[in-house]
Amino acid sequence: MTITKLAAGNWKMNGSLKQLGEAKALAAAHLSPTVEVLLCPPATLLAQMAHVIQGGGVQLGGQDCHAAPKGAHTGDISASMLFDAGASFVILGHSERRADHGETSLDVADKVEAAWDSGLVAIICVGETEAQRDAGETLAVIGAQLTGSLPHGANADNTVIAYEPVWAIGTGRTPTDAQIAEVHAFLRTNAPDAGVRLLYGGSVNPGNAAAIFTIDNVDGALVGGASLKAEDFTQIVTALENS
Ligand code: PEP
Repeated sequence: MTITKLAAGNWKMNGSLKQLGEAKALAAAHLSPTVEVLLCPPATLLAQMAHVIQGGGVQLGGQDCHAAPKGAHTGDISASMLFDAGASFVILGHSERRADHGETSLDVADKVEAAWDSGLVAIICVGETEAQRDAGETLAVIGAQLTGSLPHGANADNTVIAYEPVWAIGTGRTPTDAQIAEVHAFLRTNAPDAGVRLLYGGSVNPGNAAAIFTIDNVDGALVGGASLKAEDFTQIVTALENS
């Protein structure tokens, strides 16, 4: 089975109109990508980013969506609004949303259904805290998140799974190769479809990307901080292309 690799950048609550040049430079560097490249800017930048990356090899994604298609949900954004602004993916269940907004796996599953209904691919994030890893609960936690967050009907076309250990996000710390391999083997076995792409996320940077991409069952990366600069993210994309 051929799996198209994916490098996804999550700008989180960073970025302004001035920084769209980074997206433009990334798109210009990947006119014929052999891997898929995705940027998920804050919602305020989606439409304008769609404009500046036109004709390049970069796709757009949102960082969250509401489970409802529309209505009285002040401050929220629906999946169809993301689609309308040019997105084809949406990150769901990121640990920062689970922690900051109390999102449960059940909430995530509802959002995944909404994303699919609007034609978006859902990137579902799972990952253990450091305390859970120290307690030997990593696979149990991830298994429960996976089961709870994945509605019936998930397949390789509509779903990507990102393993993001909470303790590795934005910390400069990464798991050992063996730790990543163990979780990704578990995800491969438990994914709803053999072709579902499995991303690793957590302090991926130009210096460690190539080594991470040699690990079995790693089909790409979800990158936070290092996706903000075109130069850094391009190096990560190149490492994925060469893996
Ligand atoms: C993320 O936000 O999903 C992430 C992995 O962040 P960072 O690469 O900065 O650790």
